[in-house]
Amino acid sequence: MEKLYYERPYVKTFEAEVTDCKPGKKGTFYVTLDRTGFYPEGGGQPADQGTLGSANVLDVHEKDETVVHTTDAPLEPGTRVTGTIDWERRFDHMQNHTGEHILSGLVHKHYGYDNVGFHMGKDEVTVDFNGVLTMEQIEEIEDQVNEIIFGNVPVVELFPTEEEIKTLDYRSKKELTGQVRIIEIPGGDVCACCGTHVITTGEIGLLKVTGMIHYKGGVRLSMLCGRKAMEDYRKKQKIVTSISVALSAKMDKITDIVEKMREDNGHKEYKLNQLYMELFQSRLQAYPQSEEPLLVFEPDLAPVQIRQFCTLLYENQKGSAVLVCSGGDGVWQYALGSAAQDMRILSKSLNGKLNGRGGGSALISQGTFHASEEDIRKAFLEQ
Ligand SMILES: [Zn+2]
Repeated sequence: MEKLYYERPYVKTFEAEVTDCKPGKKGTFYVTLDRTGFYPEGGGQPADQGTLGSANVLDVHEKDETVVHTTDAPLEPGTRVTGTIDWERRFDHMQNHTGEHILSGLVHKHYGYDNVGFHMGKDEVTVDFNGVLTMEQIEEIEDQVNEIIFGNVPVVELFPTEEEIKTLDYRSKKELTGQVRIIEIPGGDVCACCGTHVITTGEIGLLKVTGMIHYKGGVRLSMLCGRKAMEDYRKKQKIVTSISVALSAKMDKITDIVEKMREDNGHKEYKLNQLYMELFQSRLQAYPQSEEPLLVFEPDLAPVQIRQFCTLLYENQKGSAVLVCSGGDGVWQYALGSAAQDMRILSKSLNGKLNGRGGGSALISQGTFHASEEDIRKAFLEQ
């Protein structure tokens, strides 16, 4: 089987003969050809999609050196078909895959870390390294990757002899046997790989690291290249513009304004809680001291205020157990407190009866009920 994607990665359409077609899983068919331009899933690069004659190619994988196309319709063995690759999807993969080479190559060169995981998703490409990088280091690497992209250097494909390979310093995920294909990006990377790559680095357009998390003792970087980076930029531009309009502020000021708003909100919340505390104190006298359970429904309280009011009521012996609920339309936030009973047990029992969630300490539990006011009354007072 001739692998066109390997020799000529820019083949978008091709003619081939159907050599076999078998029924697959869930109404699909497994089709083999004498030659194919469809890249099978491998090395972190997803499979190509497209069409073979009138059938859609849903997936492609390699089994025992043969490329198997999963299609949604059967194709007659012996007939000739035209294969058409979903080129936008494939080119996205080529841009991101080649960009990832340079990123991994430079991280390896400067810090000695290996790429230990690579995943190309629909909206995100992630690369895992087995060492920790700071944001500053990542930005430096990102600059260097883009210098190589802007330099528009050729992506070189090498097939070294067994002798040559012994003296060659290259990245590889596993011990390789047989003919090894080396992808070299001068100044960027030397790596054994059988994926599809762009011909010159300029075609990558841009590489942007979009996120970093600590992962398994190293870091997981999110990155995007080319069209995917452009789409991401457009999406983020829209978000930033809408925030800027909503705040009536210039873009470079919105971080400061949001920080100031958070601070102001903190002060307001503190003041509000103080005022609520005074309000709850003044309303305490409306409740006589009691050995019976006390149930209170209050509109529009935040969980912290529900807890404040509940604490105040049970600490002043206004009930053997005090349940304060706030909400409506069948959804209630609650706080349940008592100095006499274990609230973990009671809240568990009420959660069971009232489709609830939550928990807490022996003194106070908090959570949510999904029930009517009537059901809460019944469950709590008739316990
Ligand atoms: Zn590659």
